[in-house]
Amino acid sequence: MSNQGKVAVVTGGSRGIGRACVMALAESGFDVVFSYASNKAAASQLENDVKVFGGKVMSVQANAANQLEAQMLIDKAQTEFGRIDALVNNAGITKDGLLIRMSDEDWDDVIATNLSGVFYTTRAAGKYMMKQRSGTIVNISSISGIYGNAGQSNYAASKAGLIGFTKSVAKELGSRGVTANVIAPGFISTDMTEGLPSDEIASHVPLKRLGQPEDIAKAVVFLTSSGPYVTGQVLQVDGGLTL
Ligand code: NAP
Repeated sequence: MSNQGKVAVVTGGSRGIGRACVMALAESGFDVVFSYASNKAAASQLENDVKVFGGKVMSVQANAANQLEAQMLIDKAQTEFGRIDALVNNAGITKDGLLIRMSDEDWDDVIATNLSGVFYTTRAAGKYMMKQRSGTIVNISSISGIYGNAGQSNYAASKAGLIGFTKSVAKELGSRGVTANVIAPGFISTDMTEGLPSDEIASHVPLKRLGQPEDIAKAVVFLTSSGPYVTGQVLQVDGGLTL
């Protein structure tokens, strides 16, 4: 339990990858604050499930795309839990469509949630981490942000933006003991990928299966736990799909 006494904040923790991150971080010793958009039932269930690890947990309804709510999430974590050691920017949405038919709204919503939302929480938590002279930030991007994907120009742009953002944050905050890294998942079994042809996708993955949320959570625990001399990196967790 190397993370005993430390505090992690996870955005979009109620389901999927975020949920697995909350569980794994709590298991590794962190007290955890997590946000969700609207699914209060899932958030309450997770709060109960996390208690088995013995640490503190708190869920906060906060829309990642809303600057005031993002700031409130971070301030609440700092006020109620006393410090923020790790920030996992996981909340994300898709609104897929071909470029020439994509509405302004679908473009703006995805950029607001996936990219501006990460800026809001990172700026807010970064201030606390700089004063503390320690902290770890992990931003969940996607292989779409590295390689592009037809039908996902908005999503790929937001996820590519996260990579440039994270590398800049790593350079700015490194001297204060704060690391910032990106995880780029491949296809992971969650509500977001429900309905995709999983057998066909798995046949293209060298490891011959889709990822599970826990596969991403393990990488998050590695990057958020004190020790690794790693910052500004993009770690693809995709079963080798993009080799
Ligand atoms: P998911 O199953 O759809 O879960 C999304 C989570 O984010 C939920 O907890 C949801 O809260 C929360 N959320 C959505 N919009 C939000 C907002 N505006 N403010 C706050 N929370 C919000 O998604 P997932 O598959 O776990 O994906 C998690 C992250 O991994 C995303 O950034 C996604 O882009 C990225 N990713 C996923 C895959 C994949 O294959 N699944 C691949 C690459 C990258 P509610 O429960 O309240 O709705």
